[in-house]
Parts: sequence; C-alpha cells; structure tokens
Amino acid sequence: MNQHYQNIIQGIFLQIKNEENPGEVASYIPELANIDADQFAVSIKPINEDAHSYGNHQTRFSIQSISKVLLLCLVYKHTGEKIWERVDVEPSGNPFNSLVQLESDNGIPRNPFLNAGAIVVSDMLIDLLEDPKKEFLEFIRDITDSETICYSENVAKSELKIGYRNAALCNFIKSFGNIKNNPDKVLELYSLICSVEMSTVELCNAFTFLANGGKKVSDGKVILTKSQTKRVNAIMQTCGFYDESGEFSFRVGLPGKSGVGGGIVALLPGRYVIAVWSPKLNPKGNSYRGMKFLELFTTATEESIF
Ligand code: GLU
Repeated sequence: MNQHYQNIIQGIFLQIKNEENPGEVASYIPELANIDADQFAVSIKPINEDAHSYGNHQTRFSIQSISKVLLLCLVYKHTGEKIWERVDVEPSGNPFNSLVQLESDNGIPRNPFLNAGAIVVSDMLIDLLEDPKKEFLEFIRDITDSETICYSENVAKSELKIGYRNAALCNFIKSFGNIKNNPDKVLELYSLICSVEMSTVELCNAFTFLANGGKKVSDGKVILTKSQTKRVNAIMQTCGFYDESGEFSFRVGLPGKSGVGGGIVALLPGRYVIAVWSPKLNPKGNSYRGMKFLELFTTATEESIF
C-alpha cells in the first residue's frame, strides 16, 4: 500500500488513541460487557494487496450486526430478487430493535439490517439450506479464506437469554405470516449468526468481494453478480448505521456496516475495504472511535463514493 495512505492511517490512529475514549460498551448482551474497552484496531485492505493494520488487529471480536450483511449476501445469492418480497430496502430512521413500523408495514421489515429484517432473512436461510448453521459458517470461511472463523456459543446463548425484544419482533412478524419457521429456531440461528467473531483483518478479507464487483479476489469465484453487489452496497450506504446512517454517509461517504461489538467495516468500490474496531459505542450504538477514524480518514484522503 502506498506510503501516503500508510502515513495518513498511522497519524489518525495515533491521534485518536491518545484522545479521550468516551461512550459505553454494549452490555445488554451480558457476555459483550466482558471486554477490555480500550482495545483499538484498524486494518485497510486494498483489493489486490494484503491488509495493512495498526493496534489490536489480530484480536477477534463479536461482529454482531456486521454479520447481517453476510447473511443477506448468502440468502440473496440463493433467492435472487425474490428476497425483496419479504424485506424492504428503506432506511427506517428508528433504532435497530424497533417494533413500531412493523404494524403499518404488515410485517415487512424496512430493511435487512434492522433486527426485524435480519430475523426474516434468517428464517429464509432455514428454508433454503439443509444445515444453515454449518453452511453459513462455510460461506463466511470461504469468503474470508480462513478455516478457523467461528461462532461464539457463549455470546449466542447470552443474547438468547435476554432476547425478549428479538423474540417479540419474531413473534410479531410471524403473526403477519412473514416468518415461516418456529420462532425459537429462527432466533437461535439469528443469535448464532450475530455471534461470529473476526479480527479487523478478517473483516476486510470477508468484505473484499463487495469492493470487487461481487468476485472473490483470491480465486475469482463469483459470490454475487455486479448488480446484486451494487444493491448490497447501496443498502449499506443507506441503512448500515442504525438511525445514524445519514450521519455516517454525510461524515464518511462510504457504504459500511457497524455492530454493537464496536466493529465498523466500510469500503470504496474498486479500491479498498477498511475495518475499525473499538468497543465503546456512541449513544446511537456505533463505535465512537470507529466513526471518528473513518471520518478523519476520508477527509484526509479526499476520496469517497461521492
Ligand atoms: N445480536 C444483536 C441484537 O440482536 C445485534 C445488534 C447489533 O449489532 O446491532 O441485538
């Protein structure tokens, strides 16, 4: 990677590391609260080069909602455009676990990155694949080129124990007929998918096909068509950051996705994927340092999709 980028990344990383680190670690999932909140990592991977990283970039963390993008890709690959009959593509302007719009929208979630949307997509995965747990894991291991990526059974169990809100969402959607399977089975799969752990380097590797027109770089395998890739990136751009998606687009200008584990992944199509991890979240649930890093990064490089 060229020296100019390396200097920018190093400068911003050190600046933010030395500043105050406000915010709170997500603790509503008890298992996520057990983390050293000052960890901080960044990796950038230009499409055809290895990742370049700073900080705790080898440490795996709970990618949580970032997994919803990979879940969407796997289901979209199998169903094609039919998927949009069951989940919409509009930003919600509401928190990730909100129930309110489902009633007027007849159980069709506003987008696949809300909990409601990802729960419906998990339900679809159960009907598409014989062994969805195993095959989702195989899919993310394949796109990441890593055989050791795994679920965290502890995090998944911890989430299920307190998952009253997700249970309410799932049952409510089922009352409209948009969940086909047993809600317990759907919620178990959903929580497991959210519990995947990756490092920032692995996150970059996992998302590289989305910066590369849908093709894996390492072996040229087509994961999604160019049109499907454009659509997934478009949903990340408009819906990737809860009810702060407009703010992220405004400040950073890249499609991306965050998770309550403090990870953010973003990409510039045709150029690179960048992943930042810092567990403390701002009041909207996005990593405080992650948002700040990416804003400073695209400001300094003067590059964005706009
Ligand atoms: N598994 C988490 C939940 O359902 C995902 C939250 C997130 O990262 O947005 O609450």
